Amino acid sequence: MRDLPKCPECGSEYTYEQGNMYICPECAHEWTKQAIPEPIDNKPVVSDAFGNILQDGDTITVIKDLKVKGSSSVIKVGTKVKNIRLVEGDHNIDCKIDGIGAMKLKSEFVKKT
Ligand SMILES: [Zn+2]
Repeated sequence: MRDLPKCPECGSEYTYEQGNMYICPECAHEWTKQAIPEPIDNKPVVSDAFGNILQDGDTITVIKDLKVKGSSSVIKVGTKVKNIRLVEGDHNIDCKIDGIGAMKLKSEFVKKT
């Protein structure tokens, strides 16, 4: 079974693949293979410490005591955080924690509830 596309220039069926290119031997036209379409929603996939996929609006529990940078506060293990928002970066969860305020957490230290 041939699944190679016809040459878009001359319509030849004798195209062949080379690396990520298609080549037409008849008119010497070369073109790149069609790129795999990117998902429109290209938000990063974020999973918790146990591999559960997290989504905006989820409630998570902190599974490790976490120091709050620049303060003496500690987010205790077991702290529930509601309505998280996923963001890009090292700290990929944007959230607000009661008594502490707006925070960014790492998904590896949380568990989906
Ligand atoms: Zn051609």
